[in-house]
Amino acid sequence: MAKNFIPGAVRLYDCSAAESGYLLLFSGDKVVLKNNGLPRLGEIALPEETPLLEIGKLYRESCFAVRLPDDFVIGGEYVPYELREGRMFLDAPSEIALCRGMELTFWHNTHRFCGSCGTPLQDIPEDCGRICPQCRARFYPVIAPAVIVAVTDDRNRLLLAHNVNFKNGVHSLIAGFVETGENLEQAVRRELREEVNIEVEEIRYFGSQSWPHPNSLMLGFTAKAAGGELRPDGVEIDHADFYTPDTMPNTPKPGSLGYRLITDWMKNYRKD
Ligand SMILES: [Zn+2]
Repeated sequence: MAKNFIPGAVRLYDCSAAESGYLLLFSGDKVVLKNNGLPRLGEIALPEETPLLEIGKLYRESCFAVRLPDDFVIGGEYVPYELREGRMFLDAPSEIALCRGMELTFWHNTHRFCGSCGTPLQDIPEDCGRICPQCRARFYPVIAPAVIVAVTDDRNRLLLAHNVNFKNGVHSLIAGFVETGENLEQAVRRELREEVNIEVEEIRYFGSQSWPHPNSLMLGFTAKAAGGELRPDGVEIDHADFYTPDTMPNTPKPGSLGYRLITDWMKNYRKD
């Protein structure tokens, strides 16, 4: 348990109003680290009146998320990384802070008005929600669960699929959002059926990962193929097959749950 990060109330400050703490700096869709760690408030000259979002306590210190203006030049020891890459440098408490900061800055930017009556929202001082001063409706960040599945066949080969949006021939595991009304196992079965026409059994939970792009929680599973003729849907997936470790195509880089599932399968692969 990452006891050194405690999620807390979210408040907006002018950056000159905050004294010290950790900074979660976001530039476009990148996270900015200093010497592969989190920068600290005061180390970097932020533009005046930059809003800070306090998202909790990291090692008992305040932790502020900041979205840098598009024209803000960053350099020297400060390096922008994709989240997948940047998170690998951090310990577990700092990684939670990073994912929370990324998700909440997005949520704040996109939840400025009441969805019911259109009045500008106000922060709720004691938690991370926002309230409408007119109709009193309350709004909270919503996490979108998504499943990702490592399916093996009766020869322990792994199902890998090419999504039409993947570059460089990268193949990965079947994944998709949980639909409203479904449980996780139903989402696993539906995604496999829809995308590659495969039925599965022995669905087992593997692990999870916060994926704030902008607000997902990835839930990883393993499963056994149990029927159906492999047939990509031609819309999302244009190629799929079962592979052994020595015949597999390019797969996702480290830092994702998909990578963990694939490397776990490789480690335990045995020809039966
Ligand atoms: Zn309202």
